[in-house]
Amino acid sequence: MGFFDTSIEYLKGVGPQKSALLNKELQIFNYGDLIQHYPFRYEDRTRFYEIQAVDHTLPNVQIKGTLQSFETIGGGSKKRLVAQLRDATGTIELVWFKGIKWVQKKLQHGVTYAVFGKPSRYGKRINIVHPELEVFTPSHEGPGFLQPIYHTSEILKSRFLDSKAISKLQKQLLIAAQGRIIETLPVGLISELNLMSKAEAMWHIHFPQDSGKLKEARLRLKFEELFYIQIRLLKLKLARIKKFKGKIFKETGLIKEFYHHHLPFELTNAQKKVIREIYSDMKSGNQMNRLLQGDVGSGKTIVAFICILAVVGANAQSALMAPTEILAEQHYRGLKPYADKLGIKISILTGSTKKSARNTLHADLLEGSLQILVGTHALLEDEVQFKNLGLAVIDEQHRFGVAQRAKLWSKNNDFFPHVLVMTATPIPRTLAMTLYGDLDVSVIDELPPGRKQIETVHRYDQNRLKVFGFIKQQITAGRQVYIVYPLIEESAKMDLKHLEDGYESIHRAFPNIPVSIVHGRMKSRDKDFEMQRFVKGETKIMVATTVIEVGVDVPNASVMIIENSERFGLAQLHQLRGRVGRGVDQSYCILMTDVKISKEGRTRIQTMVRTNNGFEIADVDLKLRGPGDIMGTQQSGVLDLLIADLAQDGKLLQFAREKAKKLLEADPDLRFPENINIQRQIAQQHKSSLNWSRIS
Ligand code: ADP
Ligand code: MG
Repeated sequence: MGFFDTSIEYLKGVGPQKSALLNKELQIFNYGDLIQHYPFRYEDRTRFYEIQAVDHTLPNVQIKGTLQSFETIGGGSKKRLVAQLRDATGTIELVWFKGIKWVQKKLQHGVTYAVFGKPSRYGKRINIVHPELEVFTPSHEGPGFLQPIYHTSEILKSRFLDSKAISKLQKQLLIAAQGRIIETLPVGLISELNLMSKAEAMWHIHFPQDSGKLKEARLRLKFEELFYIQIRLLKLKLARIKKFKGKIFKETGLIKEFYHHHLPFELTNAQKKVIREIYSDMKSGNQMNRLLQGDVGSGKTIVAFICILAVVGANAQSALMAPTEILAEQHYRGLKPYADKLGIKISILTGSTKKSARNTLHADLLEGSLQILVGTHALLEDEVQFKNLGLAVIDEQHRFGVAQRAKLWSKNNDFFPHVLVMTATPIPRTLAMTLYGDLDVSVIDELPPGRKQIETVHRYDQNRLKVFGFIKQQITAGRQVYIVYPLIEESAKMDLKHLEDGYESIHRAFPNIPVSIVHGRMKSRDKDFEMQRFVKGETKIMVATTVIEVGVDVPNASVMIIENSERFGLAQLHQLRGRVGRGVDQSYCILMTDVKISKEGRTRIQTMVRTNNGFEIADVDLKLRGPGDIMGTQQSGVLDLLIADLAQDGKLLQFAREKAKKLLEADPDLRFPENINIQRQIAQQHKSSLNWSRIS
């Protein structure tokens, strides 16, 4: 038990009751937790403003002045205490609505006060409502300070644990901890990067002497946090490479045959590049774990298929797993003709596969005669046993958890299959480096030639008639149209009603045009039937919820209309838009909204109108929502950062990763004496994560 493992209960001024509250409200259990409860902002008390210079645009300010007069004005709820404070440059009003009696007792004419608060404008006057007020003493002079502001909660505040009280605890703890804060980074790295020491950084993060020191402290702690995440991820990767040998697959005649005789188009350079990257993994002798990122429509499926051929050509099997039945079936239908031409056996397995078909399939898999299995989560079931699974491709990775990934790997006993995960949701580089830092990443950064930029516009609901006119014109020109409605679980009933109303009104507006409807509550057979009608062009309009979000490919569809588009997240809007623009025709995306939308909603819409670039959109998304939200709770644990911010600190992250990489390349097991601090820190982190798992 080290000093920082001491229960928070034993810190002076805490005790069992406050300790229980801190546990519950802020997950602060011991000294270490408290000291890492960093302030989230600071108030500037480094200077006194001249009263004349104070205006309502400033944040909290500190002023110094003599009390001229004070009086209570008004009655009832309007009753207030107003005081005039004056310095050499002017006068300002201080106002209290609450605690009037108590404040009044403290006020004295002619006394000089140090006052702190947020200036606001009241008519033509500037005043400060409910300022902090202390009699000015020489101790207010001097360098001043940045006051730390801590996250707390209403409950804690009501039990006298507001930000100020927490700051007091921090100070006590820091004083008690003097000489006990151990350096956690290698000394060489610290001097090389000119970083603040850990002990100094801990002090200045809570009680910065000035903004320069604060900046240094933040940089040091952010770097440390990012550095250790990268060390951990890169160590995992090294360990995996060492432990998991991969079967060696080389280019085979099968690939040549496909490439020269059946591939209906020329691959883009980006596709060729990632195929080379994947092949080099698959023949390296190590297990491949690669993330393939590529914007919607960039042609990931064919890349996957060509990689599958390397495996099938060597008499091993491949699995292709998709997150929805619609998508799995689409992959299957897309690949089956190629497989047939090449004499390869391919099947599909989903939740709706019949028992009898399932049994044959299981048998064929075990025997090895079934070479490619496409499907949904159903692939993960225990009965699904391969003879020799060589490659598992997982489409739209972000919908599957890490555990599921691992489950697919373990389908073989004697060797691990190569794993390729594909995602069309471009993940900002910083996120990818953190979430998938133990994977290698390939990016298809080019769309097949001839694709036109999708023209995106924003239209208000009242202009619907014009939009209908446009739909008509496109359908007359032979195109097809999607109209998508939001579907949010909590109000599923309402949404369904919107969808059905929408369907009705479309029907009325276009009585002679066949319309499909698809939503999550339909039986998957009916869904599929409707989808198929649209795919075949029998219906011209597809009214749907977001079930069509992922991967559906109908090249003839050229218009995507998104109703209540302000209710969708950016990633989803981008996915939906990606359903059009897949053919040769100019495509359009129309984002419908009410006139009233939130500021954030507007930013999302404007971003969509401005750019088609998924990575740019992902960056905006990251800034709007923060990393935790983007990846969902499933993976947010990895992203629970104490101080670094993936939306802001991309460069620092990159830098930390490079440093970590260099270090591990030179000393993979961290045995060098100069890396002793890293060894110790990892052991410490390991221990505290064990403690955690016991608590939760
Ligand atoms: P995504 O990356 O979104 O999964 P798909 O693999 O579904 O994209 O490909 C989108 C469409 O582009 C498909 O119809 C596919 O056949 C086509 N395609 C893929 N690569 C090329 C290429 N190099 N040239 C032309 N069309 C291509
Ligand atoms: Mg796809």
